Amino acid sequence: MASKIETTPDMVQNVYKKTAERLAVVRNRLNRPLTLAEKILFGHLDDPQNQELVRGESFLLLRPDRVAMQDATAQMALLQFMLAGKDEAAVPSTVHCDHLIQAYKGAGADMTVANATNKEVYDFLATASSRYNIGFWKPGAGIIHQVILENYAFPGGLMIGTDSHTPNAGGLGMCAVGVGGSDASDVMVGLPWEVKNPKLIGVHLKGKLGGWASAKDVILKLCGMLTVKGGTDKVVEYFGEGTSSISCTGKATITNMGAELGATCSVFPYDERMGAYLKSTGRDQLAAIADGHKDILSADADVVANPGKYFDEVYEIDLSALEPHLVGPHTPDLARPISALKKEVAEKGYTVKISSALIGSCTNSSYEDIGRAAFVAKQAMEVGVKMTSPFLVSPGSTQIQNTIERDGQMATFNEVGATVLANACGPCIGQWKRDDIKAGEKNTIVTSFNRNFRARNDANPETLAFIASPEIVMALGLAGRLDFNPATDELEGPKGKIKLQAPVAPELPAKGFIADTEGYQKPAGATAQVAVNPSSDRLQLLSPFTKWDGKDFVDQLVLAKAKGKCTTDHISPGGKWLNYRGHLDNISNNMLLGADNAFTGEIGKGKNQLTGETAEFAQVARAYQKAGKGWVIIGDENYGEGSSREHAAMCPRHLGASAVITKSFARIHETNLKKQGVLALTFVNPKDYDKVQEADRVSLVDLKDLAPGKNVKMNIKHADGSSETIELKHTYNAEQLKWFRAGSALNLIRGL
Ligand code: SF4
Repeated sequence: MASKIETTPDMVQNVYKKTAERLAVVRNRLNRPLTLAEKILFGHLDDPQNQELVRGESFLLLRPDRVAMQDATAQMALLQFMLAGKDEAAVPSTVHCDHLIQAYKGAGADMTVANATNKEVYDFLATASSRYNIGFWKPGAGIIHQVILENYAFPGGLMIGTDSHTPNAGGLGMCAVGVGGSDASDVMVGLPWEVKNPKLIGVHLKGKLGGWASAKDVILKLCGMLTVKGGTDKVVEYFGEGTSSISCTGKATITNMGAELGATCSVFPYDERMGAYLKSTGRDQLAAIADGHKDILSADADVVANPGKYFDEVYEIDLSALEPHLVGPHTPDLARPISALKKEVAEKGYTVKISSALIGSCTNSSYEDIGRAAFVAKQAMEVGVKMTSPFLVSPGSTQIQNTIERDGQMATFNEVGATVLANACGPCIGQWKRDDIKAGEKNTIVTSFNRNFRARNDANPETLAFIASPEIVMALGLAGRLDFNPATDELEGPKGKIKLQAPVAPELPAKGFIADTEGYQKPAGATAQVAVNPSSDRLQLLSPFTKWDGKDFVDQLVLAKAKGKCTTDHISPGGKWLNYRGHLDNISNNMLLGADNAFTGEIGKGKNQLTGETAEFAQVARAYQKAGKGWVIIGDENYGEGSSREHAAMCPRHLGASAVITKSFARIHETNLKKQGVLALTFVNPKDYDKVQEADRVSLVDLKDLAPGKNVKMNIKHADGSSETIELKHTYNAEQLKWFRAGSALNLIRGL
């Protein structure tokens, strides 16, 4: 039977009924109060009676309620789904075309270009979605997480999405987790989804937001407190009276950027602000159903009263004392309150002049965000101040765009000098063609986005990207200076000076939202023909990876040893490469182009040990593959942090990687490597990272005895003839080891 795509009242009732049944089993087993995250996760267990529930250790098998995919990752997810031979998606699923639209001239012109350049990809996604009963959101209809929040998210639900910021739906009380395309295809095939039973971080929000402080500042402050690794394999659960002082969309901003902590997801308890958002977006019935199930949509009372007993870590933020924050450059955990920035700008020599101010994205384009930013702009125009540098606005969806056009905020933006971009990711994902700055020119930008890794926005490694709330971005953009503090400094214009008042704006439109009536395509079912051009350089049907031959990996070459931060953006960069997301062989040419070579300091290149020549890592890997030589990658801490793209695992597999060995992994990337059949291993002693040299040959031995919890030995032969043996560990469970042996998780599914 065809899966329904909409989140209907019946569907939600059914989810709550099943959740209650499963929780009864779990409560009987654990005999203790439960946190909200536990209620949602355990309420979706595949087998609540027999599931092992050791926090931080067990792998949970869960039954998600939904799958969401964006256009860059959906290509590979759907190609993999097709390889599995099923007739339709087993759970409600949607595809959203948001990542492939380049920002340049503004929405109209940019959409014309995007529709032409991405035609074959959009045609493939539209036809494959139609064929397999998947909802399809057309290019320009909106950014995945905004559209999900507006249409599909619901309190207490469990969703996976092929995008790191899927946790955005936590603002509506959902556990929503960013995964790779292979996880999405598994769930669409009908298999349960596997995730490590996360540790739990409790964040107690006290007081009430006010003044210039906004929801964004809660998460920016937390990024500084916990760092980009602080949330790995953990769920962040918010509680306390402060939660209800934050709007539903503000909560979504906070849970969205839980991804910057590396958290599995973040979640807020259901409250009247969520109910109001549901009603305002035409889902009154869902609000009424949620109102009747508050017991499963919030933590048990004793958890809130004694958080230290139930959470692994507890933090406290006093919203009443919170200052606006800025984070950056180059990492979201370099945080400081705005009052401390002026001194730091002078000390560190950051470029003071702001070259561009950008607001919107999935993180901050709610009605409230837009209203607060417009409030600031209006005041500035009273003294004749307008933007003197580019000011780019990315509305999150057509619904938001329509509504702010009707209510006047868009007119304010236009008046102050905005270029309104398509309702898409644009500069947030590096789809930004800049004419104002030369390649390699030092400059400073401020954004209301969520990520600021070096070169992420404009491919210029010399751009310093600082992240703040939309209202702070607006204020700094108008001042034109990074060291401006609207809470203390005056803005000077041709008509005088003004001390900006703290922004005030409604969280929801008094006249309701104007729904998008044209952005959605309903599926046609089995009659639809999937369009893939065999000569395309952007799409390529997949062939299964070869099965493991049962032998040890002997004398593997060290293709690359990455030093320091090596995110999935470094392993499989975006930008122009986004064009090849559906073509495994072509996109593999980008492999490790951003990696810092620990032996030479050169970015993206290494020495071919067979010829002595230096070349891009992908070309060296192709040479090794042609010569029949296996190879490994050595990584540093938190290797593979950042986005969920499985290409960062598929490309190494495609080019012949046998293993990736690191000091530690980011969760999603580690799972992606396992799914694609690449051994994911970590040093038992992180200092052993230093032992691996450029010309070494490494052997991973006794692999036939690979078992959960059992370490792997690696023999290292150095170029001087000496050798040593070190211990590696892994996190494979019995099921995941089957993936490795089958050659990939998909091979295993095909065989079932
Ligand atoms: Fe798009 Fe940026 Fe949001 Fe990712 S974080 S979905 S790139 S807007």
